[in-house]
Amino acid sequence: MPVQRVVLNSRPGNNGVPVPAHFRLEETTLAPDLEDGEVLVRTLCLSVDPYMRCRMNEDTGVGYVTPWQLSECVDGGGVGVVESSRCSACSEGDVVTSFNWPWQTKAVMKGSALQKVDPQVVDGHLSYFLGAVGITGLTALLGVREKGNVTKGANQTMVVSGAAGACGSVAGQIGRLDGCVRAVGICGSEEKCRALVDDCGFSAAINYRKEDIPAKLQELCPDGIDVYFDNVGGGISDTVIAQMNNNSHVILCGQISQYNKDVPYPPPLSEEIQETLRSKNITRERFTVLNYMNKADAALCELSQLVKSGHINVLETVVEGIEKMGDAFCSMMKGGNIGKQIIKISE
Ligand code: NDP
Repeated sequence: MPVQRVVLNSRPGNNGVPVPAHFRLEETTLAPDLEDGEVLVRTLCLSVDPYMRCRMNEDTGVGYVTPWQLSECVDGGGVGVVESSRCSACSEGDVVTSFNWPWQTKAVMKGSALQKVDPQVVDGHLSYFLGAVGITGLTALLGVREKGNVTKGANQTMVVSGAAGACGSVAGQIGRLDGCVRAVGICGSEEKCRALVDDCGFSAAINYRKEDIPAKLQELCPDGIDVYFDNVGGGISDTVIAQMNNNSHVILCGQISQYNKDVPYPPPLSEEIQETLRSKNITRERFTVLNYMNKADAALCELSQLVKSGHINVLETVVEGIEKMGDAFCSMMKGGNIGKQIIKISE
């Protein structure tokens, strides 16, 4: 059976900016018969995520993901439907997901590597399993809960960087629901600022490309900053941390502004920022969602309810076609997405 797949064509190098030409679309053929334990799946939608940037390097620099290999099929989060099965755990028509879904229109996978999901959990909106009711929603909810110290009635202000992205847009909404009186987002366009305020209940938003971040933070956070959900690192985060209150908390979720640089994760902070953290007793512990998978089922259930009830509004940017995978990844890395970047592969 002929299928299309995306392979890694070349590496950007540790300090390079990824471009679509680093990926290549190919035709390949699937073996006609399944072996015991195998499942034929049709890909419905795929995810592109910032952590994939380190998979483009020869050495990812982190223990929990492996590098993609040149001329081999790229993989990541995906959702699909079972077309035929020789695995007792999967039946034709089941909707399944995996963190290691090949960027391929159809694939033969081990049934044991797939997780069956119930479309009702997302009211049929299957791409949510890759976003708000999947890993980025979990990252937002568990990041806030595990590292944010949000307390109802404590008059707290939360700031979120990368706020209009998949994690950020949910993190600010969770912050508000959990009791923050203000959630201020920092993001890269006017359109994103509007989406945060009009659609996601953020109190205000700052366009970092156009506005004076220190001045706007002072105006929008008159009682200082108590919780900072950090997706980006770099100069934006230095500016936020400088305005944080005593005994406040940084949720160190990601540092995307540094991902095209050959620096360790998390990237080192300046002496000045380290001194600010020390003198104000600001916590800044690294958060990795994969360390909290024992809480995932309950958290996904809560996210599903919050989305269904309209307490969390989900933002998505959807493009269609497996040939768009490389474009979509590179666009997301530069801010082309509002909410979760999804690639629809088939109906
Ligand atoms: P997003 O949907 O937020 O997409 C990435 C966004 O980052 C872009 O849309 C862009 O928005 C912003 N961005 C890119 N470059 C810069 C820059 N130089 N400065 C400021 N903003 C920039 O991705 P995710 O929600 O999937 O991921 C967000 C963060 O969360 C990442 O750092 C990721 O690594 C991290 N993460 C961490 C996890 C964990 O377990 N700790 C799990 C999942 C994700 P804009 O237009 O605003 O620039």
